[in-house]
Amino acid sequence: MGPGPISAYPSVLRAMSAPLVGQYDPYMTAVMNETQELYRSVWATRNEATLLIDGTSRAGIEAAIVSLVRPGDRVLVPIFGRFGHLLAEIAERAHAAVHTIETDWGQVFPVSAIEEAILRVKPALLAIVQGDTSTTMNQPLDEIGALCAKYGVLFYTDATASLGGNAFEADAWGVDAATAGLQKCLGGPSGSSPITLSDRAVKLVRSRSRIEAGIREPGDKNSAHFVRSNYFDLGMILEYWGPRRLNHHTEATSMLYAARECARVIALEGRDAVIERHRIAGAAMLAGVRGLGLRVFGDMAHKMSNVVAVEIPDGVPGDAARAAMLNDFGIEIGTSFGPLHGRVWRIGTMGFNARLDTVLTTLVALESVLRRFGASVPVGGGADAAADEFRRA
Ligand SMILES: *Cc1c(COP(=O)(O)O)cnc(C)c1O
Repeated sequence: MGPGPISAYPSVLRAMSAPLVGQYDPYMTAVMNETQELYRSVWATRNEATLLIDGTSRAGIEAAIVSLVRPGDRVLVPIFGRFGHLLAEIAERAHAAVHTIETDWGQVFPVSAIEEAILRVKPALLAIVQGDTSTTMNQPLDEIGALCAKYGVLFYTDATASLGGNAFEADAWGVDAATAGLQKCLGGPSGSSPITLSDRAVKLVRSRSRIEAGIREPGDKNSAHFVRSNYFDLGMILEYWGPRRLNHHTEATSMLYAARECARVIALEGRDAVIERHRIAGAAMLAGVRGLGLRVFGDMAHKMSNVVAVEIPDGVPGDAARAAMLNDFGIEIGTSFGPLHGRVWRIGTMGFNARLDTVLTTLVALESVLRRFGASVPVGGGADAAADEFRRA
């Protein structure tokens, strides 16, 4: 019940034990095609270029940024938590001229602040996190795409923590590139990164691909123009997932099965129903920790559904209490980073864990542990408040 990685859906674990096939086996390519179609519906897009990057979420982020950013390009990164710093760092490594704006932890940016920064910086790319697990905040993105289109800026977002548990509308929001990982609301293991690219983004990455230029040998004098990574060259990866099936890396078969099953779980339950399940479980966990008399961190109007930052009560040793949750109850909750370290625990309700029983047992365990460490907590206050929230839903 931490901020991720989470317990995977049982069917995802089963899917990963299926037999391996060769990478051009018709079964393999059929599963790749099916997975693309399933993720188009997860992202709410018609983008042909919807696929998986092998590696954890960071692999998707890196593929998007190194393929979209040409050396010297201005990149604007609005930072509202730890993962915004990661986007800035990766853009810097791609030799972008990185400009950042920051807001206090626990807040998101108003659209006006992003517009003001776009006007000042005139970036080629806006890179922004949707949900930052470090602060639990969910940046509204629905007006950002129109803003980017107005000023001719490409729009990339890291939706790792939020996708599948909060609204995401790639096409309706005008997103050019978005990436995620399986180990949050999608309910799988880490190690595969779903990505989707608009036609505009595809045009750019193809223009930077050696394949498109017909140059495959090193030593070409224009090589600075090409994507500075082989593994993350989206132009090449697109040819591998596309009809030409040009060999690139060996697709990670078991992760492909896992990613497909994560999206299948969502398709079977219904995308909106899964997002609603996360909303209800998150609201119940929030009501529950408040029912225990605990304070929560951040602007609740912009909290992600799937994680809450709970202030550690005075006098309670945060790490020892977390260890007691794990050792005595078998329930993992999260610590926190940077300015929140030692101040809050982060409790998640994601994927397979966004359920009534997991929320209630976590709250009952937390109540017991808090009392053991000397905090005075209302008897049954957490589980009762959470159960009420589920009944209301
Ligand atoms: C959890 C998380 C990641 C994780 O990246 P990994 O490479 O999978 O560890 C990236 N971005 C955000 C916003 C996250 O919340």
